[in-house]
Order: sequence, then C-alpha cells, then structure tokens
Amino acid sequence: ASKRQGGSKVSIYHDSLNQKQAEKVHIETRLRKAIQKGDIDVYYQPKIEAHRNVITGVEALVRWNDAELGFVSPEVFIPIAEETGLIQSLWEVVMRKACSQVSKWNKERNEKMTLAVNFSPRQFQDPIVLVNEIQHFLSLHRFDPTWFEMEITESTLLMNAEETIKALHLLKKYGISISIDDFGTGYSSLSYLKKLPIDCLKIDRSFIQYIQEDYSNSEIARAIISLSQSLKLQVIAEGVEEEYQKAFLMENGCDHMQGYLFSKPLAAKDFEAAFLNS
Ligand code: C2E
Ligand code: MG
Ligand code: MG
Ligand code: MG
Repeated sequence: ASKRQGGSKVSIYHDSLNQKQAEKVHIETRLRKAIQKGDIDVYYQPKIEAHRNVITGVEALVRWNDAELGFVSPEVFIPIAEETGLIQSLWEVVMRKACSQVSKWNKERNEKMTLAVNFSPRQFQDPIVLVNEIQHFLSLHRFDPTWFEMEITESTLLMNAEETIKALHLLKKYGISISIDDFGTGYSSLSYLKKLPIDCLKIDRSFIQYIQEDYSNSEIARAIISLSQSLKLQVIAEGVEEEYQKAFLMENGCDHMQGYLFSKPLAAKDFEAAFLNS
C-alpha cells in the first residue's frame, strides 16, 4: 500500500512493522491452539562420550509442526512464547513428555542417560517459584533429580541475579546439574563461573563450525576447554558435524559432544530404533 501512495520510508517501515506484528499474533494464536490440542512434540538429541562412544544423555528439544504454518522453528516460536507467557505451558508439555519418556528408557537400559531441558531467561522472573515447580514435576514423574540437567544461557545469569543465584543453589542441593548453553556468545563474567553452582559449559556451535577456517574460533574453543578444566567444570561441544571437529575436540581434551555427526534430534520412536533396540 505504501508504494502506491508514493510511499515515504516511514510508511514502508510501518507497513512491515505491522505485518511482523500480525504474523507474531498469528503464530501466538496457532501456538496456543497447538498446546491445547497436544500438537507439541519433543525430539531427543544424544550427548556422546566420544572416547567410549556411548550415549551419556539426551537433550529434549521442542518441536511444533503446525497444520497451517508447517514446521515452525523453536528459534521463531520460543521468543514469542516468552513474550506472551506461553512458555510456561510449553515447558510443562516438554517436562511431562521428556520425563516420562526418559525414565522409561532408563528402566530398560543398563547405562542410564541424563535428561537435559532448556530453560528460557523469562522463566527466571520468579526463580524460587520455578524451583518449586521443577521439584513438583520431577517428583510427579518420579524422575531422579540427579539425572536431570538444566540448560540455561548466560543471559539467564543476568536476570534477577541475586534470586537466580539462590535458586541455582537450591536446585543444586536438590541434585540437579546446571549447564551453560551457547557458552562464549553471551556476557557472563568469569567470576560468576566460580561463584555459581555450575556443572558444565556447552561450547557454542559457532565456534565449532569454522574451527578449521577460522583460527580465532579454534582458539576460543581451546580457551573454553582449558577454562573448564581449571574451574573443574565439565565441557561439551555442540554442533559437531565433521570428523575433523571431533578429532580436534578429543585432541584438546573435550570428550563430550553433540551434533549431526552422531545424530540429529529424533522423535522418540526413531531414537529408540536408532539407539535402544540392540
Ligand atoms: P540449543 O539449546 O542450543 O539447541 C541446539 C540447537 O542446535 C537445536 O536446534 C539442534 O537441533 C541444533 N543442532 C544440534 N546439532 C547440530 C549440528 O550438528 N548442526 C547444526 N547446524 N545444528 C545442530 P533447535 O532444536 O532448532 O533449537 C534451537 C534453540 O531453541 C535451542 O538451542 C534452544 O535455545 C531453543 N529451544 C529448543 N527447545 C526448547 C525448549 O523446550 N525450551 C526452551 N526454552 N528453548 C528451547
Ligand atoms: Mg540447549
Ligand atoms: Mg546451544
Ligand atoms: Mg542455541
């Protein structure tokens, strides 16, 4: 419309802004329906210990395949769910499905797997309430907290810092382990890492991706590995797609990894077929 009017830049800007807003509202509406109808699914991506070549855990990743919109990426709908408060019910779906699925798998296997769930910064607005909810969910599904891992990003550590720190200590005492996701891309100060009850750093995919092409990436990956060693934290690399990346990581002391080289995130039945039916 703005073009027909001979459009000033301002009206073009407004048009696209309105369009974006409308799209967001549409996604929100469809998402709310999907949650109500039970159209939200959880996929599982294994975490590998490379040296022994075993699966030590899985990360639960939310999936939404909408009848009208098709597959919508979590990168698109998670921020909208956060803004609109839908993140709470989305999280409940993920917890319910993942806890019951992984406890079932663990009963059938000799070597148990940890379950990692992603948490949004928004969920830490009232950290103590969150702690209660997590405890409620885990006991409801009889899921042993020592096999539960919380993935948070560096931005979560900046939210409501004092309360969040208190909550992390409570979770830790309860037996849950805490990982910093996408590590190296955010703003966490190094002194935080010493102060907080953190168990594991997840090296962001972007540093693994161009490990060969870009010297600074391999140096950052190496620095994160040695940081984790000196702070006695675990370390895992995300987004490992190529053998040379795996080799680099093993050579440099990072034995835990996750990525398409081992497996994409899979639906529960595909995960069983690929890894559990032996
Ligand atoms: P994340 O937690 O860092 O998850 C890793 C993302 O990288 C996943 O994307 C995964 O499918 C993808 N990935 C794994 N291995 C590879 C690889 O080798 N190469 C490439 N190119 N990608 C790989 P996904 O599932 O689209 O999720 C994107 C982000 O959305 C997640 O990043 C996480 O921040 C968020 N997310 C996903 N599920 C949930 C959830 O249940 N709750 C919350 N709050 N956030 C979630
Ligand atoms: Mg994650
Ligand atoms: Mg990540
Ligand atoms: Mg990410």
